Amino acid sequence: MNQTAREWICLLKDLEKPVKYLKGMGEKRSGLYEKLGITTVYDLLYHFPRYYLDFTCPVQISQAPLGENCILRGRVVKKIPAARIRRDLTVYKAVFTDDSADITIIIYNSGYAFDKLQLDCEYFLVGKVTGNMLRREINSPQIFPADMCDLVQPVYHLTEGVSQLLLRQSMHEALKAFDRFIYEPLPKWVMQKYKLCSLEYALKNIHFPQDMHACEIASERLIFDELLTLQLGMLMMKERSRLSSGCRMKDVSIDDFYGSLPFTLTNGQLGAVNDCIKDMCGESPMNRLVQGDVGSGKTAVAAGAAYFAFKNGCQTALMAPTEILASQHYETMTEFLSPLGVKTALLTGSMTAKQKKLVKEGIESGEYSVVVGTHALVQKSTVFNKLGLVITDEQHRFGVEQRALLAEKGEDPHKLVMSATPIPRTLALMIYGDLDISVLKELPKGRQPVSTYAVTGKLRERTYNFIKQHLDEGRQGYIVCPMIDESDSDLRDVKSYAKKLSEGVFKDYSVGLLHGKMLPAAKEKVMEEFKEHKIDLLVSTTVIEVGIDVPNATIMVIENADRFGLSQLHQLRGRVGRGQFKSDCVLITDNPTDEVKQRLKILSSSSDGFRISEEDLKLRGPGDFFGSRQHGLPKLKIADMSRNTDVLRSAGAAARDILAADRKLEKRENACLKELVNMLFEKNLSDN
Ligand code: ADP
Ligand code: MG
Repeated sequence: MNQTAREWICLLKDLEKPVKYLKGMGEKRSGLYEKLGITTVYDLLYHFPRYYLDFTCPVQISQAPLGENCILRGRVVKKIPAARIRRDLTVYKAVFTDDSADITIIIYNSGYAFDKLQLDCEYFLVGKVTGNMLRREINSPQIFPADMCDLVQPVYHLTEGVSQLLLRQSMHEALKAFDRFIYEPLPKWVMQKYKLCSLEYALKNIHFPQDMHACEIASERLIFDELLTLQLGMLMMKERSRLSSGCRMKDVSIDDFYGSLPFTLTNGQLGAVNDCIKDMCGESPMNRLVQGDVGSGKTAVAAGAAYFAFKNGCQTALMAPTEILASQHYETMTEFLSPLGVKTALLTGSMTAKQKKLVKEGIESGEYSVVVGTHALVQKSTVFNKLGLVITDEQHRFGVEQRALLAEKGEDPHKLVMSATPIPRTLALMIYGDLDISVLKELPKGRQPVSTYAVTGKLRERTYNFIKQHLDEGRQGYIVCPMIDESDSDLRDVKSYAKKLSEGVFKDYSVGLLHGKMLPAAKEKVMEEFKEHKIDLLVSTTVIEVGIDVPNATIMVIENADRFGLSQLHQLRGRVGRGQFKSDCVLITDNPTDEVKQRLKILSSSSDGFRISEEDLKLRGPGDFFGSRQHGLPKLKIADMSRNTDVLRSAGAAARDILAADRKLEKRENACLKELVNMLFEKNLSDN
């Protein structure tokens, strides 16, 4: 390891120190910082400003646009005596000028802020200018003395007890780590080729920029670093899976599988199974994505691939994002495969230690050929006898590194990924690397599209009757309520709503409740009862969004539908229309604006997930897609892949150049980068 690399590692150690060791910090404050997601000095330095207040070019008061946030510079020429309007309202006013025009500062209740204002002193004001051209006012502005030293002020996300000032002080302390070491993680040639400033300059100027130009230079460097690290990690993972040999399989027949299924596979399903078989017989391991709309029957494809692996004497691991889904897949796999002599096991986090131990023993001995589970499956203590195939369902909900972890378990197993999220191609390449793709275009025969109606809350009673019609015919239904966050009040809402329904309109039916905060065992019990039709109507939050399969459910009502994205609504709606019965979906909104109507109309007119997601992207922009973290990429701090496309491209080119010369980042000049890649991907793992 060369000098810079060693220093970098030292520095990283310095940066990995908890913030509480910073001067002026201590336990109590560091506790507050944790609320901002900041535990280490590194976290602090990478807690970037949301935006900046640029005091270098204030607007003239006479030119200040009304109704917008402005920065003004001027002096106080007159302070008007306070006016006490009510017991709890005192209004302070002062006249402020910059010689282009006057403006009245209005301050409510804060006598302290008002007293601090000194006549004939220069100040900056930040706030919204209101009134008219003749009488301008600025209400409760932020006030800064004009002789302050930093003319560009960062504005951070704060939390109670942590002020901008405090954050800036800590930032200052944190940056001192850089005084002890000189280091630069990027190879020189990369910095030169892409005209990047040093990391030290970047971090100093993102937090304490001299001017906006310096700030841009700084952020470009930090965005580059982030996107470079990300792409290095992705490329290395891809490389790893490409190089290794995999469990090469023999092309044995699985006709008995086709024969024992309760239905005939669609052409798309058959094609996808055959794609898998061909891949698994090849030299390098399979790396395939099966993309199919909700209800297209991806699980049967998974079962086919798993059976093929079984016939080749290999085990299959099937990972699902939730426990409910895992146990459902477990049942499906058992149903499809146990008649063929395949033993399937379920392994989830909520099982007792004893149960887990037993299952793990069976996995290790090879007794179980198919293992279905949540990510508990990837835990280090699970040892496979001969893992040949890893299947991940709805993988955009997993972190990439989880996939990588499991891949390391076997002898480079084949990988199959199932996803219902239609991702635009450019993004798919980023997320899935170079996966091969099989698309299930058609739905199984005999499916009738779900009729979808968007209505306002006025029709709620009628909607309830509509549900009853379905229930009276022996079918089942869902009512989905959104939760903005899983706060107590939201949860209470869902609970009390369920209670109200079960004691009121639906008192003659059995009503169940399902939400994300329930214990896994309780969730499972409810799902089980719903499946067995002990529950007629399930009131639920969006936990049912992913992959629940109860063909007898034919009606879904979604409350506050306007709060969901279209793709999510489409996924939700995919829970009905899974059997031979005609199904309906009612979207209720109490907020029928034109925009909402336009969006919901798309759903009632289309059942094509790809088209819906495209419309969704158009309406909401790709920022949302990347914002939602559903893609499984590590969380980015500063880069925005939908906006920083130029940097994305140049960093991608740099990543490829770097790896072309040093496949595993083993050269000295790349030692720091390797560390960064590990950090980015590890950090994300611990977040999950
Ligand atoms: P998804 O692609 O959304 O995961 P599933 O695998 O859960 O879809 O399948 C949805 C439903 O369709 C299940 O009840 C499944 O048994 C059924 N199914 C799958 N393939 C077929 C087929 N070829 N013909 C009829 N029904 C099918
Ligand atoms: Mg599914």
